[in-house]
Amino acid sequence: MFNYKIVLLGDFGTGKTSLINRYVDDSFREEYLSTIGVSISNKTIDTLINNKVYTSNTMIWDIEGKTEFKPILSHYLSGAKGFIIVVDVTRKNTINLIEEHLILCEKTEPNLPICIALNKSDSEHEEIDLINFKKLYPNIIFITKTSAKNNSNIEKLFKALSEKIIEQLL
Ligand code: GDP
Ligand code: MG
Repeated sequence: MFNYKIVLLGDFGTGKTSLINRYVDDSFREEYLSTIGVSISNKTIDTLINNKVYTSNTMIWDIEGKTEFKPILSHYLSGAKGFIIVVDVTRKNTINLIEEHLILCEKTEPNLPICIALNKSDSEHEEIDLINFKKLYPNIIFITKTSAKNNSNIEKLFKALSEKIIEQLL
């Protein structure tokens, strides 16, 4: 049994808590309750790699989002095995800050697999091209549009990260 920590990070209000609630309890709330400090959820999952099933317990850390006045505390990221950077496709400034989050991940725990969730894709938004980011940061393993509201691509997102983490732990 593998045990590992992953962290969701990004700006406030991008949908980090909502993605976790959807993934862990299949629930969604319209109202915004901002996360204070950190909240940890656990999910046991089976991952198939080379025809073998690996059971693992994922500790999913939901941390306070970055605001204009408050940076993300790097000690929350310590000890993680992978990261999910969450942006809100309806708020361009959250996309502009992807690089800042990538730098924080790299500084705290270098060379870990990172996924990027382009969340709230159920809402109207401009197309986002992150090809250049993938070239600059080869540890970005997966970029996907998600919607916590419509439950789209969330399983895929967490699965991509788990597979990569387990491969590295094997
Ligand atoms: P966090 O600060 O990153 O944890 O953001 P929350 O998960 O608390 O979500 C902030 C707000 O965005 C809440 O009002 C949610 O209902 C809403 N929200 C989260 N995910 C989605 C989504 O995929 N689509 C839409 N339309 N709204 C979302
Ligand atoms: Mg939150």
